[in-house]
Amino acid sequence: EDIRVYEFAEACGKSAAEVITVLFGLGMMVTKNDFLKQDELEILGEEFGIEVTVKDALEDANYVEEYQEEEIDDSNFVTRPPVVTIMGHVDHGKTSLLDKIRESKVAAGEAGGITQHISSYTVEKDGQKITFVDTPGHAAFSEMRSRGADITDIIIIVVAADDGVKQQTEEVISHAKASGCPIIVAMNKIDKEAANPDMVKAQMAERDMTPVDWGGETEFIGVSALTGEGIDDLLENILLQSEILELKADPEAKAKAAVVEASLEKGRGPVATVIVQNGTLKVGDNIVCDTTYGRVKAITDDNGKPIKELGLSETGTVLGLNDIPVSGSVMVVQDSDKEARDIATKRAEHARAKELSKSTKVSLEEMSGLIAEGKIKQLPVIVKTDVSGSLEAIKGSLEKIQNDEVKVKVVHAGVGGITESDLILASASEGCIILGFNVRPTGAVKNKAKADGITINTYSIIYDLIDDIKDTLSGMMSAVI
Ligand code: GDP
Repeated sequence: EDIRVYEFAEACGKSAAEVITVLFGLGMMVTKNDFLKQDELEILGEEFGIEVTVKDALEDANYVEEYQEEEIDDSNFVTRPPVVTIMGHVDHGKTSLLDKIRESKVAAGEAGGITQHISSYTVEKDGQKITFVDTPGHAAFSEMRSRGADITDIIIIVVAADDGVKQQTEEVISHAKASGCPIIVAMNKIDKEAANPDMVKAQMAERDMTPVDWGGETEFIGVSALTGEGIDDLLENILLQSEILELKADPEAKAKAAVVEASLEKGRGPVATVIVQNGTLKVGDNIVCDTTYGRVKAITDDNGKPIKELGLSETGTVLGLNDIPVSGSVMVVQDSDKEARDIATKRAEHARAKELSKSTKVSLEEMSGLIAEGKIKQLPVIVKTDVSGSLEAIKGSLEKIQNDEVKVKVVHAGVGGITESDLILASASEGCIILGFNVRPTGAVKNKAKADGITINTYSIIYDLIDDIKDTLSGMMSAVI
């Protein structure tokens, strides 16, 4: 799964046409950019007398990542600080606790500067560093893990000692257990009269988290985010757990950092808050992050101060990506800016092609049917672009694509975003496809298009756009034969 027709053809030394011919012969309509399904692959394997092994889909989804994996050299390994995620039921004091820990560990002069809650920070306890991450919720935590940003080493589950285990606590327990990380239970609000640590322990023990002092394996620490009581205890415990985990990484390696949060900042461009998982991230490094890339222009630490580099498990904000990366994606340093750009482009193309083969398949088949019935002699398209220069270029190229049976008809071409009026226009001509170049539909337009069965394809490379339309036409032709 997840291999395109032409990629398959390349892999087995055939031309894409040969592959398409075989599949057409069996009534399977594909174009060279379509992804092959498992049964199609098996048939092709038989037909060409080669062995086709269909890999696990998950493995395949990461195939772009594969050629990036390097052999691990542990000769430079040093102990790295732990990364801790705090989770808990709403109002049990997660935010207060994160703020209190930061406040109690930041140098006196800076403490007054803490006005806003931040998503991650590093503190020091007895000369050892600990990085805390605030995820927007346990669902986000698991989503980040599924994206490959498995940054958390230790999880703290906050349970208000006066309230006990609640619905979200239960959910958090499931997510935490699924991650396989060691868990520490922070029983918060012990300053309160109604606090009942034994109740919390009993409730957690029922859920297979038996306290150490009851003969189990889970540490329970009573804390107060209000008074600061127990926080030192908690930090000491984190360091103890961390020691057991023997966390190691290579400060000399090419840096790899997980994106915790990203946004567009006025006057600064895309900024990403990251935690370094390996290596040292430096100003000037060429980076790729999912489908975005760039060069590290500046790094600011968790106090907003500019710094030159970020070390193992440290967190800071990175400036210099060309676009906003997704939270949970992993930033990787590359040797050259070309390499970074190439990988990002390849990933973007892969993602886009996948999207495309999903969206065009239906309309392509529909179109083929209509042509077979002699109802359609042309492929109507609407073209929208960001600037007029590319509009003319695309329109000109499209109008040149034609053959004896079918040709492209540009129903409308204009500069600007894809709007509802384009949808209305598209529904008016049967089989009409909307092509966007460097423009995208809004969520609302996208949904409406889906509901109306109108295909919108967006591109950032003219050649891709033209190629796709050529492919669609040749698909239409073959379907007639
Ligand atoms: P979150 O939803 O888990 O982030 O909880 P918050 O940190 O927003 O705390 C919820 C409420 O509990 C706030 O009104 C806090 O002031 C209060 N609170 C948090 N921790 C403590 C604590 O240790 N003691 C007391 N008395 N109140 C606390």
